[in-house]
Amino acid sequence: AASKRTSLSIGLIPADGIGREVIPAARRVIEAVIPNKVRLEFVDLAAGFELFTKTGVALPEETIRVCRDGGVDGALFGSVSSPSHKVAGYASPIVALRKKLDLYANVRPVVSVSPNSNIDMVIVRENTECLVCRIFSFTSLRAKAMFIKYIKSESIENNADGTRTAYATRKISETASRRIATMAFNIALARGAARPSNSPLPLVTVVHKSNVLSITDGLFREVCHDVWNTGKDGEFKKLARMDEQLVDSMVYRLFREPHKFDVCVAPNLYGDIISDGAAALVGSLGVVASTNVGDNFCVGEPVHGSAPDIAGKGISNPIAAVRSAGMLLSYLGFNEEASKIDIAVNKVLLGDKNLLTPDLGGHGKTDGVTNAIIKLL
Ligand code: ATP
Ligand code: MG
Repeated sequence: AASKRTSLSIGLIPADGIGREVIPAARRVIEAVIPNKVRLEFVDLAAGFELFTKTGVALPEETIRVCRDGGVDGALFGSVSSPSHKVAGYASPIVALRKKLDLYANVRPVVSVSPNSNIDMVIVRENTECLVCRIFSFTSLRAKAMFIKYIKSESIENNADGTRTAYATRKISETASRRIATMAFNIALARGAARPSNSPLPLVTVVHKSNVLSITDGLFREVCHDVWNTGKDGEFKKLARMDEQLVDSMVYRLFREPHKFDVCVAPNLYGDIISDGAAALVGSLGVVASTNVGDNFCVGEPVHGSAPDIAGKGISNPIAAVRSAGMLLSYLGFNEEASKIDIAVNKVLLGDKNLLTPDLGGHGKTDGVTNAIIKLL
């Protein structure tokens, strides 16, 4: 973790839909938790599908520049609405931002809301390769060439009998596998350090399917083993345990005994699937946070989408965004403040159900939940 800063600048990218409700809520929580002696500043940054429909640009250069060139210390992203049909020239701005800033990991803690279950895991998903090869970003119609290159990671052929056959290419590199595994073990060590000293060592579960995909998943698995065995001058092996799960059995166990998992690391596609699955175990999308992390920058992002069905009604659950803000603060070295947010959020979740938002069975509103969190800080 970084040392304590005397100033803190956070980019806010609410984007579309309920992003515009939950990001302002997260901002208020940050304002309440950061001590007055820290010079705190927010920078509003534009992005989104709605912006694209107005200007033809989903992710302005200015937004990228501010994040990349030190204009802000980190950023919070809301959510983008995905058009139901393919729109020429449009690509998801968060996907593009991850690429532009090389945010190669998606880190998603999955923590249970109810005292009757004790799920407390973190899924660390590789974010730049695998079957999901959206590695070419583009921000306007002008970048057509990149677009063409992107579609080439999939192809389709017409057969003689009039049917079609589609192909996809999967990419797993040693470099990307090594850095994601290293991040997973570092997270495990940090979790281990925060636990009572008589706790078992943190556990990293490597998710793959190397019995079938022996070359691609085989490489991912091999690199993860190597990182555990040799990484951080032997610290990883000394301070963390490692095991592995074939992705199918991982899903089975995730639903049967989710409390047994600690840190899971997975290539992009498996990570995508198990992290949404795990989110379903803890009640509502509205409480699940994530960060997109690289070596130089971090973007907090609630896992949910733009939720057009409830946008504008003031009833969106701000907790996923607030928790994402907490993760961002922790990345920036404000660990104490991050854990204050965690504690306050958990208290609100375990408090009067009626005050919670409808996704959690309550009658509360975004503002009410935010106020309740702030009151506890
Ligand atoms: P998108 O295309 O932007 O992903 P979506 O229709 O898939 O939109 P999601 O945001 O993914 O919508 O949400 C799925 C469901 O979960 C919706 O019914 C939505 O209302 C609900 N939901 C998502 N986030 C929240 C939240 N923060 N608070 C309350 N309900 C939420
Ligand atoms: Mg969605």
